[in-house]
Amino acid sequence: MTSSTGRALPVLVITGQSGAGKGTLITHLFERFPQLQLAVSATTRARRPGEEEGVHYYFISDAEFDRRLATGEFLEYHVFPWGQRSGTLYSEIDRIGAEGRVCVLELETEGALNVAEREARAVTIFITAALPELERRLTERATESAGEIGERLRVAQEQLLVADRFDHVIENDDLDRAVQELSALVSGLLSPAGTMSQT
Ligand code: 5GP
Repeated sequence: MTSSTGRALPVLVITGQSGAGKGTLITHLFERFPQLQLAVSATTRARRPGEEEGVHYYFISDAEFDRRLATGEFLEYHVFPWGQRSGTLYSEIDRIGAEGRVCVLELETEGALNVAEREARAVTIFITAALPELERRLTERATESAGEIGERLRVAQEQLLVADRFDHVIENDDLDRAVQELSALVSGLLSPAGTMSQT
């Protein structure tokens, strides 16, 4: 994946605490930078209302996930405490690169750190928010049971412990400010001076 200047384009890996508003920030980012493209993960979880196959996820069975694991199709994958598995397919990164676009991965924190180890072009960005704000957003979303919300909050507290292992940390207590900060960061990464030297 190279830019018009012949330099390697970054692979943006966005992660953060559960409920920190990664999705909203990414939506704003995509409005500002049309060259970005979100990789579609494969997941074993059930499709939620409004989600589309091949747009939000590739919804696959456990058996299909096992088959793809065995054939080495995943750059990384994660098993969530409540049972689902989600993973990044190499084919998505190749597809986006072949279109000359910049790949964005939205992953939970462990997966993001794994990508940073395995992919030299990875630039990791951690999104955080204060705990009461996280709880408010998770409760508002209300697609999960009370037990799952509690579990996600516990995970969010754990995730904060690893924040300093990411290249950049952005606080999303104020959406407009966070959008500005993230946009400035991405703008720098995408400018010719900000793209990485090719190895
Ligand atoms: P949800 O199930 O609510 O769509 O996503 C739960 C979490 O899974 C989110 O934090 C999202 O970033 C993460 N996620 C989605 N796809 C992948 C993936 O392919 N790998 C990893 N490690 N995390 C993922």
